[in-house]
Amino acid sequence: MTDEEQQVVNLLKAMVQIPSVGAKEGQVADLIEAYLAPEWQAGLIRRKRITYAPGRDNLVLTVGDPKAKRWLGVDGHMDVVDAGDESKWEFPPFSAHIKDGRLYGRGATDMKSGLAAVIVALKKVAHTQLDHGIQLMATVGEEIDNYGARQLAAAGYGDRLAGLLVAEPGNSNVDAAERGIIDYTLTAHGKAAHSSRPDLGANAIHGLFAFANAALTATAPLQAKDDPILGHATHNIDMIRGGNQINSLPESAYLRGNIRTTMIADNDAFIQALKQAAKTAVPKGVHLSLSIDSVLGPAAASPDNALIETVQQARQHVGLDRGAVAYRTGITDAALFYHDGLDLAIYGPGNDTSHETNEYVTLQDVFDSVKVYKDVFMNY
Ligand SMILES: [Zn+2]
Repeated sequence: MTDEEQQVVNLLKAMVQIPSVGAKEGQVADLIEAYLAPEWQAGLIRRKRITYAPGRDNLVLTVGDPKAKRWLGVDGHMDVVDAGDESKWEFPPFSAHIKDGRLYGRGATDMKSGLAAVIVALKKVAHTQLDHGIQLMATVGEEIDNYGARQLAAAGYGDRLAGLLVAEPGNSNVDAAERGIIDYTLTAHGKAAHSSRPDLGANAIHGLFAFANAALTATAPLQAKDDPILGHATHNIDMIRGGNQINSLPESAYLRGNIRTTMIADNDAFIQALKQAAKTAVPKGVHLSLSIDSVLGPAAASPDNALIETVQQARQHVGLDRGAVAYRTGITDAALFYHDGLDLAIYGPGNDTSHETNEYVTLQDVFDSVKVYKDVFMNY
């Protein structure tokens, strides 16, 4: 192992050993700051912590001329999802066990390997002369509702960025876009009565079905629109609950839906359609209430934007093939920092084991990523 490879393995191991399951991101930030201490002490890296909650700090690191005209943003989240049933793991999920060239653990793929790789690349690049700036944002709470990115975006951290590299795993794909998301809950309120006397009550489940039909009908034309980059939007009702027993009219019921949006079938259009559907005719005595629980817009840069090309060339410089360019079906922090004209690339080490038991990353994948990131940081 080269010295650089050893550094990224050590940093990644230490990161995975912090169980930052929607918490403790401040400890990951501590690790990063300790690793970069020689650089920030020498004034080569500037650092700022933006506290989200006690023990949960976002960390923003910048390199290059503070007055630079052109800024490359780099994003990586420090939190991970729950490990699930730990007894099902081959190695304990926060042990960062290495076997046969793979490092196992929660966050190995999603996305402490991407974060460790960009940090090691930043440390190297901090010692060189750049004509642009690099603004690395290590965020909190991405897996819950992008808490950190929302906070940083609201504070203006996305505004000056010409490009944004999100170091999320992707099996060597170099993606330029991601769909947006809407989660909603529709609750139907009715009145309980004996099922033999429905005239005395109001059936909440019947009201819920009326909404479901209206909502799927109202959003069908939006789902039919084919976005040139993001394909079709989708709308699924994924949860439904209601009723207490077989001979009683249900007095309340709810369902929850999930929508994945595109630039031409966007969040506003879907929310409008849902609001319309919530006014549909329902049984007498039933009323519907719609709650939009979470919203994130789509982010769709051109597949041949300048940052994608820089990543592809960097891959070639280090002896890799050009990656496939597609869009992400999942969401990242990108949407929060997205603005018209932003060059966007979602690219990082890791595979399809995100959020799974026995999540792992291949060390060679991480080593290649450090080289690619260094090249991108120098040449964007
Ligand atoms: Zn992730």
